Amino acid sequence: MALCGTTATNVTKMMAAYNGGSSAVAAHHPHHHHHQLQHLPPPHMHHHHHQQQQQHTHHLQQQLDIEPDRPIGYGAFGVVWSVTDPRDGKRVALKKMPNVFQNLVSCKRVFRELKMLCFFKHENVLSALDILQPPHIDYFEEIYVVTELMQSDLHKIIVSPQPLSSDHAKVFLYQILRGLKYLHSAGILHRDIKPGNLLVNSNCVLKICDFGLARVEESDESRHMTQEVVTQYYRAPEILMGSRHYSNSIDIWSVGCIFAELLGRRILFQAQSPIQQLDLITDLLGTPSMEAMRTACEGARAHILRGPHKQPSLPVLYTLSSQATHEAVHLLCRMLVFDPSKRISAKDALAHPYLDEGRLRYHTCMCKCCYTTSSGRVYTSDFEPVTNAKFDDGFEKNLSSVRQVKEIIHQFILEQQKGSRVPLCINPQSAAFKSFISSTVAQPSEMPPSPLVWE
Ligand SMILES: [Zn+2]
Repeated sequence: MALCGTTATNVTKMMAAYNGGSSAVAAHHPHHHHHQLQHLPPPHMHHHHHQQQQQHTHHLQQQLDIEPDRPIGYGAFGVVWSVTDPRDGKRVALKKMPNVFQNLVSCKRVFRELKMLCFFKHENVLSALDILQPPHIDYFEEIYVVTELMQSDLHKIIVSPQPLSSDHAKVFLYQILRGLKYLHSAGILHRDIKPGNLLVNSNCVLKICDFGLARVEESDESRHMTQEVVTQYYRAPEILMGSRHYSNSIDIWSVGCIFAELLGRRILFQAQSPIQQLDLITDLLGTPSMEAMRTACEGARAHILRGPHKQPSLPVLYTLSSQATHEAVHLLCRMLVFDPSKRISAKDALAHPYLDEGRLRYHTCMCKCCYTTSSGRVYTSDFEPVTNAKFDDGFEKNLSSVRQVKEIIHQFILEQQKGSRVPLCINPQSAAFKSFISSTVAQPSEMPPSPLVWE
């Protein structure tokens, strides 16, 4: 996995730009040992594209068929295939959202995810490049979304034998937090941050994906929120303890677990059950105070109080690996805080000195927000941008029947396509179409396990 090079002098220069908050041009370009970056696989030009014209009720429209190629599964809901965009020969990912219109709950979930994918505009958050042209509403059963194609994900990388340097850990963590700061600024909780949902390309650019469980934060503390969230190993203690209300800090807990996993290359809290999961957490952090457990349900609190009083054993984090420096462990301990209200935010975590080098590397040779001129690198004025407007989920309130949501989604997709590009559709004649169309949702084992019901 190629990482581009940076130097210490560069850090100082860039931090000057960062602290100044305005764009700056690096005076010289210091000696870069620029590794040759791997590029995406070449476009498959041999695909023949049936160009066809379709008679629509109101207008003639040119459409290009897209042919599925091979499955590249990621995501809790839906299947992802790699395809070639016939308009430019570029390789992209095609996500099928199946069984959308089975019931109102799945309709709403899919519509929310679709709206989010169209809303996102951030380098570290996966977004929709396109949505395939839907058929007539009577035949409209599935939704296909085109996104950027990513070669791997953090889970595959962590379990692979390829070496992961501390530079890798820093640039990955930087990008996770950069994406999360953006999502949280939009008022969105991801709720299933795990290594498999962090896509990585061969240049080590990282994008947060899978918004199947994401939702808008709930400011009213009396409102109950579902506990069907977060793969167990990355699940925050307040969720494990049956808290009925939680905030975006549940995502930060997950990032802390992933940070430790990047350093140690093994899952930090790998328990067999939700109760054991909580026990492993208290083994490390010690018995929480009553204050830290104030949102927990009675049964969970009783479980903690019944058990032995535990002292924190945080120094054990230094044994994760030689990369677990004071700075790394300091930041890690700010994320792995039992009390969600005392856990660091994505914004504050990004200000931690551990991430300075990751920021520099990212903006020196990986980002799209800065650029290089003959006189040096021109840095963006805002290294970690937020959204201008919050994601508005008000549209969900008036959704009351499957048929109605189907019509609204159909209309929404058609509106997204009022661009200059020729609309795409699936080619039902293609050889791969059969297996593509029959591929369904993730196996139950890939779904987040249901939460424990405390007595
Ligand atoms: Zn940049």
